[in-house]
Amino acid sequence: MSMIFCRGCGKEIHESAPTCPHCGAPQTIPSNQGKVSFSSYDQVPWYRKQWFAFVCFLIFTPGLLLILLSGDVYYESKGQLKTYSTTAKVVLIACVIIYFIVAFTL
Ligand SMILES: [Zn+2]
Repeated sequence: MSMIFCRGCGKEIHESAPTCPHCGAPQTIPSNQGKVSFSSYDQVPWYRKQWFAFVCFLIFTPGLLLILLSGDVYYESKGQLKTYSTTAKVVLIACVIIYFIVAFTL
């Protein structure tokens, strides 16, 4: 038996309690559709940052394809953490594929 602190009121409650018996706040973290989200750019792993995606594009293009297909690419704009939209990713993936076709047929 171990105790945790309520996410709502801060009182001590049992760790398996789905809601707080004091204030009723839910204790389970919202899954966010299984997506990993970061609150700041510093928390983003290096392989998910825009500069790494760019380096991949220059040095090892299949790596960029892997990054785009396996998750989101993050960048910082005016102090805000941003991620590429699905449309931007599809366009990028299409560009990489076209780049490959051109590179190997010429
Ligand atoms: Zn509570």
